[in-house]
Amino acid sequence: MEHITRKSLLYKSGLGFYCINHVQGCYHGCRYPCYANMMAQTHGRVNSYNEWCQPRLVANAVELLTKELIRMKVKPDEINLCLTTDPFMNGYPEVTNMSLKLISLINFHSIRCSILTKGKMPVELADRKHFSEGNIHGISLISLNEGFRKRFEPNTALYSERINALKVLHDNGCKTYVHIEPYPTPNIVKQNLEDLLKAVEFVDSIYFSGWNYNTQVKKYPHYQEFYSDQTSLVQHFCKEHSIQYS
Ligand code: SF4
Repeated sequence: MEHITRKSLLYKSGLGFYCINHVQGCYHGCRYPCYANMMAQTHGRVNSYNEWCQPRLVANAVELLTKELIRMKVKPDEINLCLTTDPFMNGYPEVTNMSLKLISLINFHSIRCSILTKGKMPVELADRKHFSEGNIHGISLISLNEGFRKRFEPNTALYSERINALKVLHDNGCKTYVHIEPYPTPNIVKQNLEDLLKAVEFVDSIYFSGWNYNTQVKKYPHYQEFYSDQTSLVQHFCKEHSIQYS
């Protein structure tokens, strides 16, 4: 895996929360398309999709974050991993190792992490000697159909592996959530949202949203009505299973 160095790591995103992105690019290569990939190409950080899929680790991430956290006068309650890459990138143990070091460092400063992946969340995160029980562990999950995954999220972890790894953390007392976005319309993939919800009914919270930036979605007749129905279904499911809906 190639390495790069950066001058800073921790920043406040335009969305108002603190983030770190300790990898440039992402092997997962999502084709929704991936906003982070589009931005990286627009700003000349990568030249092509193939280059985006060859991630480069920020070699000085631990040193940078150590300095930045010590310097911070008012520490945030939470830091997010990640906005423009994946902290538990499938097939890249170097990324996983670095993510675990950074989460442990953040927790050492009494700040919790909100973590989101399309990879496998490592069981080490349940180790209370190194990681805070305040951490929130999330997976992105918009289908259970492996054909859909290969088409739109080609290098991510299998859906079953993603769910199983999250369940292990749940069973070890960790907070878990599922991020269901961008949810596809039936003209992209035919599926039953209830099956997906049942597969993750153990989680503490669920986020649901449609796929508003894909032209195929708008070709589905009454797509707005479809999303309104699916939103109600998720809300109802969450209420029935005492899951927080957001
Ligand atoms: S996992 Fe996230 S950052 Fe990586 S390619 Fe997919 S959408 Fe982009």
